[in-house]
Amino acid sequence: MRKKRQSSRGRLTVIAGPMFSGKTSKLVAMVEVFTRMGYKVLTVKPKLDDRYGGKDEIHSHDHKKTPAIIVDGETPEAIIEKIVTTRADKVIFDEVQFFDKEKVMRVIDVLRKRGIHVIAAGLLYDYQRKPFGSTPDLLGLADERLELFAICQKCGSLARHTERVSGGKGQIVVGAANMYIASCEKCHRIYK
Ligand code: ADP
Ligand code: MG
Repeated sequence: MRKKRQSSRGRLTVIAGPMFSGKTSKLVAMVEVFTRMGYKVLTVKPKLDDRYGGKDEIHSHDHKKTPAIIVDGETPEAIIEKIVTTRADKVIFDEVQFFDKEKVMRVIDVLRKRGIHVIAAGLLYDYQRKPFGSTPDLLGLADERLELFAICQKCGSLARHTERVSGGKGQIVVGAANMYIASCEKCHRIYK
């Protein structure tokens, strides 16, 4: 049953966790359920995320997927125009840390002021265990928070970090299992 969009401020749900913790799988499941309930969902991913051939879909490591629009991380305002044409009730961001921090936080605020429920998934920490983009701040603002864990690929305990095994500098280096593993606090290494 589709509920009427509320005139009150939209909720913010944040899903945070390292790579392989199930963020995208969770988003795909949410899209399925919300759509079945009659909500109109708009899923957004940053242009930078060109894994899986840069297709207009989000794609989990266990091959679940759902359609998404690709938005330049430097101009997330484009989402606001899309809202008018798609009449979405819910906007889902995957890889939110790749969008310009100030701009995406402003856009999320505008969406919420329009009564839209925003769901944002992202990495809390980068490969150096430093805060990554807007994710930590969004987590602080969230009405609903979900912190996910992966499995440490070195010792099998719960992993909250992403280890760049391929080496390479710069906070943003897009890659999947060929470049990154999940690791726990104890096992995590930063390669120079
Ligand atoms: P995220 O979007 O957080 O990177 P995904 O939803 O794309 O995560 O992928 C989650 C899937 O990744 C799991 O269901 C599992 O099949 C797979 N996977 C691969 N490596 C790991 C790991 N170290 N810990 C947990 N799941 C892993
Ligand atoms: Mg993902």
